[in-house]
Amino acid sequence: MTTATRPGPGADGAGTTSPYQSYVYAYPHKTAYRELPDRPRLDALWAAEPKDALSLYLHIPFCEIRCGFCNLFTRIGAPDGLTGAYLDALERQATAVREALGEREPVRFATAAFGGGTPTFLTAAELERLCDIAEHRAGADLRAVPLSVEASPATATADRLQVLAERGTTRLSLGVQSFDDTEARAAVRPQRRADVEAALGRVRDARIPVLNIDLIYGIDGQTERTWLRSLDAALAWRPEELYLYPLYIRPLTGLGRRAGDPDPAWDDQRLRLYRLGRDHLLAHGYRQQSMRMFRRADAPPQGADDYACQTDGMIGLGCGARSYTAGLHYSFDYAVGMHEIRGIVDDYVSRPAADFARAEYGRRIDTDEARRRHLLQSLLQAEGLDVADYRARFGGRTPREDFPAELSRFADRGWLADDGPRLRLTPEGLAHSDAVGPELFSPAVRAAMAAYERK
Ligand code: SF4
Repeated sequence: MTTATRPGPGADGAGTTSPYQSYVYAYPHKTAYRELPDRPRLDALWAAEPKDALSLYLHIPFCEIRCGFCNLFTRIGAPDGLTGAYLDALERQATAVREALGEREPVRFATAAFGGGTPTFLTAAELERLCDIAEHRAGADLRAVPLSVEASPATATADRLQVLAERGTTRLSLGVQSFDDTEARAAVRPQRRADVEAALGRVRDARIPVLNIDLIYGIDGQTERTWLRSLDAALAWRPEELYLYPLYIRPLTGLGRRAGDPDPAWDDQRLRLYRLGRDHLLAHGYRQQSMRMFRRADAPPQGADDYACQTDGMIGLGCGARSYTAGLHYSFDYAVGMHEIRGIVDDYVSRPAADFARAEYGRRIDTDEARRRHLLQSLLQAEGLDVADYRARFGGRTPREDFPAELSRFADRGWLADDGPRLRLTPEGLAHSDAVGPELFSPAVRAAMAAYERK
């Protein structure tokens, strides 16, 4: 349900940088992955990895509709029997992966998440089965760890929420995007506010400890007034978390026909609405965790969700999920276009168990990439990077020694606060997170992303 992206245009011709280049939620982006000719065996890949605090992610690639702004790996609807066949394949994959993790040392999952797509596209009975796969095949103790699940208002039904709550869900993220019916239509996510409010009521009734609400700014016709109205409608539910996403328009998506040229007026609108939203939430008792994420100051702590991509040791199951070891990030093939996605899902469900014992697409992570990734993903958090921790991880060197040009540029633009022990973005830098992230990509990753053939 979260919005994701591939990179947009770079710095504009006037020498200034558009604040909205790409949302870097994981590095390297999947468009830098390539087919792995040696198809390495997972048991060899995982043999030397720590396995006592892994993250588990299960990907459900189905949605009721395709929102106009969305480029996530998901298909619209599922013909008869496809969700069942998908869960069968997920079960085969979970079994194969768990076998590859081996028995020699204890395997423990510290966090779990169901994402998509829309996991609640599955029926209540299918969600039970999904939890069974996570527990009995992958080996996660769902009731003992933070479990985050994404849902849409229409699919957040009482029976599904009851299953999720009983099976240990600690965080439910609802993709609302806007409480204004006209704006929802403009974002090609038609929904009625009354239905959204009813869904929020059901989530609260299910007593899942953390409610997250996703909202989007920068929609056609959205004004300061309507944005504040959406924010206040969300605040009325006292959500423990709020994600405020700038709207992106990307190739091959429903709104993609408008993708392309720089649009300074739209950038200004988004920056204005961002600042308004940020200040409104700060004034209402929320703390800013990153450009997009705000957490209620008195909300219960929620484990590692926001940092899941920052750590190694991720097991992703499902045809759009990534897995991370220290030296390799891998997944299946990737696409944004509907036709291609359908083909990849169909291919996934037809795979025999043996196919899931190897990695097929991915990107090797060398020391330089590991440093970049650590810098990038720490810097994009409001609390920034702990320099001593960086030195301890990377042979005593500092970020300033490793990335002098990039960090000087950020400092010159007033985006970087360097207080010695921590390196962090200033409020202005945080507002420009989607420009900071891409500037830290390595030349090799940049080249691979540029050469990726969009499909
Ligand atoms: S509900 Fe919309 S935003 Fe969420 S994954 Fe599906 S299409 Fe994308």
